[in-house]
Amino acid sequence: MNIVYGPVPSRRLGMSLGIDPIPKLTCTFDCVYCQLGKKRHKVRGKEEVKEPFPTPQEITAGVEAALAEHSHVDYITFSGSGEPTLNPHLAKAVEEVRKVSRLPVALITNSSLLTRSEVLAAAALFDLVLPSLDAGDQETFLRVNRPATGFEIDKIASAIGRLARRVPIWLEVMLVKSEKLRTNTDPDSIGHLIEKIRLIDPHEVNLNTCVRPPEEPVDPVPEETLLKIRERMEVELPKIPIVIVPKRTHSRSRLLREEELSGEILQLLAVRPCTPTDLSDALGINPAEVGKYLARLAEEGKIGRRVQASQLYYTFKGE
Ligand code: SF4
Repeated sequence: MNIVYGPVPSRRLGMSLGIDPIPKLTCTFDCVYCQLGKKRHKVRGKEEVKEPFPTPQEITAGVEAALAEHSHVDYITFSGSGEPTLNPHLAKAVEEVRKVSRLPVALITNSSLLTRSEVLAAAALFDLVLPSLDAGDQETFLRVNRPATGFEIDKIASAIGRLARRVPIWLEVMLVKSEKLRTNTDPDSIGHLIEKIRLIDPHEVNLNTCVRPPEEPVDPVPEETLLKIRERMEVELPKIPIVIVPKRTHSRSRLLREEELSGEILQLLAVRPCTPTDLSDALGINPAEVGKYLARLAEEGKIGRRVQASQLYYTFKGE
């Protein structure tokens, strides 16, 4: 697994050079909409992580090498295959990255560890933080994010609020629906979320919906539901911009859309091997189109193939 990947087109950050600063698939949550598959390790904090974390020097060397190769990068983004704030050297890593680049540095986090003062202090060093908040009440939080034990949504929301006083934040709310489970789009859950967003007072709210992970019975929320939720939030939170994250960037050309989809495929494969059906489900495009991109990426040597239990999987080989 590479510590630095991309640059990949991001719907919110333009061309983003990604940093995965944690041992693979380690997270404090087990969200119903997670795309990382079932092999995740759920932990309460860095103390429970056995594998070594990438060091600030390793991260900076990876960034330097990537920037020498790629001229078009809009953001350097700490994100990756789990929760990046588990890395105990996060503050030092941002400091070191700033020594080799003047690009803005962003953090994508599930917000769970911002309750720890050292994590909040490290997050405040970024140019932009995209923290998640999918629930405003403990019951919905437990249902949708399935955290490790000991996390409380009230404390997490207060910590995000403290961060918002120090650095620009775009609060991401991932909304999902399900035939089988209660999720986070019923009026009560949205009401609790609105209360928390009011307290946090973020610079912007990004409403997002999931791509469908193969293992869980959750689905994306239809556009009309997203629009209704946005309308309610705009009435109840009149001073905060509420933005629906587009399914795809409005690609200015076919070439850009192709580049964007190839980037998304590489991003998914960098995290775990996928079958063509996994990719087609995750990207919301038909299998024939996925096949076209896979063939091209394989020809360019960026991905490989392997057969496991009679299933064809595609794997990441680097860029
Ligand atoms: S916080 Fe992110 S990485 Fe962790 S389980 Fe949820 S979606 Fe997956």
